[in-house]
Amino acid sequence: MSERVDAKVVVIGAGHGGGNVVAALRTAGHTGEIVLIGDEPIVPYHRPPLSKGYLKGTAAMESLKLRPDSYYASAGIALRLGARAVAIDRTAQTVRLAGGGSERYDLLVLATGSRARRLAIPGAALGGIHYLRSIADADAIRGAIGPGRRLAIVGGGYVGLEAAASALALGSSVVLLERESRILARVACAPLAAFFDDYHRAKGLEIRTEARVEGFEGRDGNVSALWLADGERLLCDAVIVGIGADVCDELAREAGIGCDHGGVIVDENACTSEPGVYAIGDMTWRPMPLYGGRMFRLESVPNALEQARRVAAHIMGKPAPAHEPPWFWSDQYDLKLQIVGVPFDSHRLVIRGDMAERSFAIFHLAPDNRVLAVEAVNRTPEFMAGRTLVGEARIVDPAHLADLSIPIKDLAK
Ligand SMILES: Cc1cc2nc3c(=O)[nH]c(=O)nc-3n(C[C@H](O)[C@H](O)[C@H](O)COP(=O)(O)OP(=O)(O)OC[C@H]3O[C@@H](n4cnc5c(N)ncnc54)[C@H](O)[C@@H]3O)c2cc1C
Repeated sequence: MSERVDAKVVVIGAGHGGGNVVAALRTAGHTGEIVLIGDEPIVPYHRPPLSKGYLKGTAAMESLKLRPDSYYASAGIALRLGARAVAIDRTAQTVRLAGGGSERYDLLVLATGSRARRLAIPGAALGGIHYLRSIADADAIRGAIGPGRRLAIVGGGYVGLEAAASALALGSSVVLLERESRILARVACAPLAAFFDDYHRAKGLEIRTEARVEGFEGRDGNVSALWLADGERLLCDAVIVGIGADVCDELAREAGIGCDHGGVIVDENACTSEPGVYAIGDMTWRPMPLYGGRMFRLESVPNALEQARRVAAHIMGKPAPAHEPPWFWSDQYDLKLQIVGVPFDSHRLVIRGDMAERSFAIFHLAPDNRVLAVEAVNRTPEFMAGRTLVGEARIVDPAHLADLSIPIKDLAK
């Protein structure tokens, strides 16, 4: 454990991780200079509403900010917004900014997140083809959807499905194109994906699976149609591409900091291969003690927050916060999905509740009935109990899990 209470800390990336690490440092009593560098022109904000309330127009921009603008000056945190870091010099301990200027550091935190993966197919550069990662992206999409507009969404993951629900609410007609044989193929079990598929269709979303988009065509520079691998042509006025995210790890790679295909390699305290340099959030390839130290890349707000707290504790020489099992949420229509754990070795599924009533939880069990993960729809008590059951690797009786006469909290005591 180090103790660098007065070190100058520079953070690259003013997103969820970066915004939280600077605040956690000040809360913990850090007295040194803190500089937060971000290439967006805005203070750190919540990204999840970009595909939900903000896209629908029910959440205002101010409400997205992690902290108000005035917080940073009052906490003595220097903001360099609209500033892109272009190189790290490990020997001189400086960060070079685009357009000139540099920032010296004693300790550096990389929090550059990930970027929306691009489609590289004919016509992909046409106007009206959108990606969703930032407020600027969401603003552009808001201008492109609405009553009478035909929207095509490429990718049936959480971002695509949430954007579909928001666009339908705004009166667009929406078709969603998924290359795999089902939606949520990489991130949810088959019964949960089937439930969401049915619900979206019932709400008016047209879903095409095994539909590979091969190219776009345009009129006056704007997308007007797309075509599929089977030759079918679909007319559209706008497209949202939601096919995953790629890590923004090039600064670290170019500086010779250890990376893997999953991003910047860090240990449990978010330390990189370079002493005094940390990395947090979407960009990290991190160990999960709960899964025997196996490495993961997690794209979630709780992950960025947990690592931000760990870095602040490490810098301040304080004990690390307890490990949390990974968790995630998604809101679509009146459905609140909450997931805890990673169901990669799941042997058996137990459903508690009623899918038809839109109130159920799917428990993923290992061969010895250890709870590996829980996917809960409109069942927050099961999600909360799941955090304990998964976090403590509890072994449960599957019959008890399915039995609604046994309160779930009794099973997590
Ligand atoms: C539409 C959408 C919906 C989501 N919904 C959910 C959800 O429901 N639940 C959930 O848990 N998670 C959700 N996520 C994921 C979540 O937002 C991310 O996991 C989280 O923001 C990661 O935080 P981060 O700090 O690693 O990266 P980010 O928040 O992406 O921040 C990185 C910042 O660094 C900046 N940056 C990059 N390179 C540089 C550079 N060289 N110089 C300066 N600045 C740079 C980027 O522009 C960005 O501002 C969603 C994401 C999106 C896009």
